[in-house]
Amino acid sequence: MNFTSTRGRLSVTSSEAIVRGIAPDGGLFVPENFPELSGALTAALPGMDYRARAATVLPLWLTDFPADELRESADAAYTGTFENNDPAPLHEVMPGVHFLELWHGPTCAFKDMALQMLPQLLTRAARRTAPGRTLVILTATSGDTGKAALAGFAGVPGVKIVVFYPRDGVSAMQKLQMTTQTGNNVAVCGIGGNFDDAQSGVKAIFADPEMRVFLNGKSLDFSSANSINFGRLAPQIVYYVSAWCDLVKKGSLKPGECFNVCVPTGNFGNILAAWYARAMGVPVGKFICASNRNNILTDFLSTGIYDRNREFYTTTSPSMDILISSNLERLLYHLYGGDAAAVSGLMADLKDSGRYQVSGVVLSKLKEDFFAGCCDDAETARTIGEIFRETRYLVDTHTAVAAKVCQEYRKSTGDKRPCVIASTASPFKFASAVLGAISQEALPEDGFEQLEKLSKISGMAVPGPLASLKGKRVLHPGCIARGDMAGFIRKFLA
Ligand SMILES: *Cc1c(COP(=O)(O)O)cnc(C)c1O
Repeated sequence: MNFTSTRGRLSVTSSEAIVRGIAPDGGLFVPENFPELSGALTAALPGMDYRARAATVLPLWLTDFPADELRESADAAYTGTFENNDPAPLHEVMPGVHFLELWHGPTCAFKDMALQMLPQLLTRAARRTAPGRTLVILTATSGDTGKAALAGFAGVPGVKIVVFYPRDGVSAMQKLQMTTQTGNNVAVCGIGGNFDDAQSGVKAIFADPEMRVFLNGKSLDFSSANSINFGRLAPQIVYYVSAWCDLVKKGSLKPGECFNVCVPTGNFGNILAAWYARAMGVPVGKFICASNRNNILTDFLSTGIYDRNREFYTTTSPSMDILISSNLERLLYHLYGGDAAAVSGLMADLKDSGRYQVSGVVLSKLKEDFFAGCCDDAETARTIGEIFRETRYLVDTHTAVAAKVCQEYRKSTGDKRPCVIASTASPFKFASAVLGAISQEALPEDGFEQLEKLSKISGMAVPGPLASLKGKRVLHPGCIARGDMAGFIRKFLA
C-alpha cells in the first residue's frame, strides 16, 4: 500500500512518507487505500498486550517495513516507558463512558503514544531510504508535542531536533519541560506569536528552496514530528483498536455493536486516527469532535464553512488553541474521493482568504460521521469539579472539554452507545487550572507547590516526570521574533 499527496498525484512507500514528513507539493501524505482487519486478527487482538496489538496493526498501514522491524519498534517504544507497562488503560468512570488514558508516558500527555514510536519508525525508514544522511526534525508545538518529541528524539543518533513554541501560549510546566531538555542534538526556542504562527513558519521553512540548498550542502534532510507526519498517525490508530479490544474483553460491547469516540481536538490528528481505525474495521458510530473556545471546527462541522478570520483565544486547554487544523486536509481528501484538485483549491482559498467552503455532498458526509461541540473555560472548570465530586476521578482541562461535549451529545441525541473519551493529558500537567476547578482555596504561586497540593486533594501521586523537573537548569532560555526562525535553524545546524 502506497501513499499519495492530498494535493497531487504521487506514489511513495510508507517509509518515504514518514522520512519526508510532508509532500513536496505542500500536501500531506495519505494512504491510497485502507487496509482491513481480517476476522482472524479481530479474534486474536483482544488476547494480546498493547505491544503485540501495535505490532499487529502497524504492518497493515506501513506495508514496506519488515514485520520484525515493527515488532522491535513496538517493543522499544512501549517497554519501560509507560507507567505499569500499560500505555492505554481504559476506565469506565460513568456508566457507558470510558476514559482512554493516554498520558502515562514520559511527558504526561498523549503525544507520547506516537512520539515514543516515531523515532523508531523514522530511524529505520531513513536507514533504507536515505542512508548516510542526518535528519533534522522540525517541530512547532502548542506545548505537548514539543516535549514529547524532545523526549523521543534526544540522543538518537543520526537525528537533530528543533522545537519552536509560542512564547506566551504554553503552560509554565510545559515551558519548563522543554527548556530544561538535555542532549546535544536538540534546540528549543520560543517565538513571538501563537501556535498557528509557529506552524506556518515551520511549513514555510519546509518549502523554502534556499533552505533546501543549505541542507543539501550538509547532507541534512528535514522531517517532521508534527501530526502532519503519517508516522504520528499510525501509532495513534493502534490505541483506538486497543480500546475496542478492551471494550469487547470487558463485555461492554457485544459482537456487531458500535461505540462512539469523543476527542478533544486541536490539529485534528487524534480524531482522524480514530476515523482511520474505523476505515480498517473498528466499529465506531459517531466521532464527537470537542473544541474549546477556539471553536472553528464546531462551526465548520455544522456549516461546511471553515473560516479562520476570527479572534484567537488563549484558554486553559492550550494544546487545543489552534485555528488551522492541519489534519482536516486529510479527511477532506478522503471525503472528496481522492480528488486532489478539489483539496488544493480549498487549501488555496484558505491561504488567500482564510476561508473555504466544502461541497454539499461532503458536508452531508461530515455530518453523518461527526458531531461537534465546544466548551469555554468556565464550563471546563465546572466539568472538572463535577466529575471529581461525583466520581473522585480527576481529568485535565483538555479531557474535561471532551467530557462536557460528550455529555451534551448523549443528552441531546439520546444515543446510549458506549463512548470512549480520549483522555489526553495528566491533570498534573495543567495543575493550576485543575486546582482552581476543585478547590476554593488560594492557589499556591509556585508550580511545584501546586503539584503537591493537587496530589493531596486528589490522592494521586505527582507523576515522576513532572516532580523531577524541580531544580533542573533551564538550558534553552531563548526567544525570537517569528521572522527569525529560519536564521535560528541555520545557526543551530552550522
Ligand atoms: C495535542 C493535544 C490535543 C489535540 O490533539 P490533536 O491531535 O492536535 O487534535 C488535545 N489535548 C492535549 C492534551 C494535547 O496535547
